[in-house]
Amino acid sequence: MNKIQMTTPLVEMDGDEMTRILWKMIKDELILPFVDLKSEYYDLGLVKREETKDQITLDASYAAKKYGVAVKCATITPNAQRVTEYNLSQMWKSPNGTIRAILDGTVFRAPIMIDSIKPNVRTWTKPITIARHAYGDVYKNTEFRIPGKGKAELVFTGEDGTEMRETIYDFECPGVLQGMYNKDTSIESFARSCFEYALSVKQDLWFSTKDTISKKYDHRFKDIFQEIYDNEYKEKFEAAGITYFYTLIDDAVARVIRSKGGFIWACKNYDGDVMSDMVSTAFGSLAMMTSVLVSPDGNYEYEAAHGTVTRHYYRYLQGEETSTNPVATIFAWSGAFRKRGEKDGLADLVRYADCLEAAVLKTLNDGIMTKDLAGMVSEGYTATAVNSADFIAAIRERLTAMLEQ
Ligand code: NAP
Ligand code: MG
Repeated sequence: MNKIQMTTPLVEMDGDEMTRILWKMIKDELILPFVDLKSEYYDLGLVKREETKDQITLDASYAAKKYGVAVKCATITPNAQRVTEYNLSQMWKSPNGTIRAILDGTVFRAPIMIDSIKPNVRTWTKPITIARHAYGDVYKNTEFRIPGKGKAELVFTGEDGTEMRETIYDFECPGVLQGMYNKDTSIESFARSCFEYALSVKQDLWFSTKDTISKKYDHRFKDIFQEIYDNEYKEKFEAAGITYFYTLIDDAVARVIRSKGGFIWACKNYDGDVMSDMVSTAFGSLAMMTSVLVSPDGNYEYEAAHGTVTRHYYRYLQGEETSTNPVATIFAWSGAFRKRGEKDGLADLVRYADCLEAAVLKTLNDGIMTKDLAGMVSEGYTATAVNSADFIAAIRERLTAMLEQ
């Protein structure tokens, strides 16, 4: 069989621990035999980040901006324990944070559903995609531990010297204080990324904040979405037969639980962080959650939503076989290949991406799964738990058959 050709390189960002092991297995078994892979490789493993003083993360992010499509393996975000474990000179920042800051994107997380695993919410029959604004708010906060009595004020000094000042609280005892911000430009990008994504997948878009309590901050988000929708997207949405609506987050939560799924729920940074964990858990497994960062100028970075699966890695290092689920990481690759194929007009590459996903789903529907999933199948379905290597081999068999058709 002739290998499928590519024209523009994919930006490939390798990572850490168990997912790094899976990364190589996926490439060796499911990609390199079928695709003449063109990639610009960046090793974002912690060892290399330390060696390059994290320059590698910046280089990879700018490459993603240059080429437009990237695929990323999970990476360690160092904490104090990792500083010791890897003998780090600094507690390097989260690579995902760096990439998001450079691409200024919105993160879309969607679960992969299979027949044999029913979501905990019985009404959900279609995936719910969470669109998380990946900039600002509490993630870029300034906070104080207040030691005792005193006055806290919010002050803004304009470039021309004019001042806005308001008392936040007159502390009569110790407490805590926090300041945070967002920017119209970033909120506008968030809105456009959501409208564009909704159009590209032809799904309704919901947006929710707490604007009744946060009458200026959250309300600004609501207004920006509405203005952009009315001025730029209303007609396109109507033509596509999809809708946009805004609702208070409390109401959104209730509606999401009662819904059938099949829509995009746009959330502010913190809400999206928390709600995506809840939604992925309710759909079954973090290992079945895909994630794509979409920038307003149309750059895409695909990854799995889970981390480096440290506990499995330590067992792997002891020589034990592990049954770590590679599905979300495979879908990161397929998503990237499909987008690359679409951008470059390569029908074969798009077909390969479709077949790769179909082969994964067929394997799962045939009851061959990793341990995390095998333990969750509903009554009436059978499942055999296999290790990662055997699972990937089963996918390869099906992929080969599909591509030869
Ligand atoms: P994690 O790697 O997602 O794993 C948490 C637990 O979830 C695992 O111990 C495992 O449970 C289960 N799990 C997750 N993915 C799985 C998979 N593919 N197959 C089977 N089971 C899976 O999260 P963490 O332990 O909190 O974080 C580990 C490291 O990942 C940290 O250093 C963190 O900084 C990093 N991280 C990176 C990203 C990213 O790059 N996007 C995201 C999150 C975390 P059992 O052990 O019970 O089997
Ligand atoms: Mg989270």
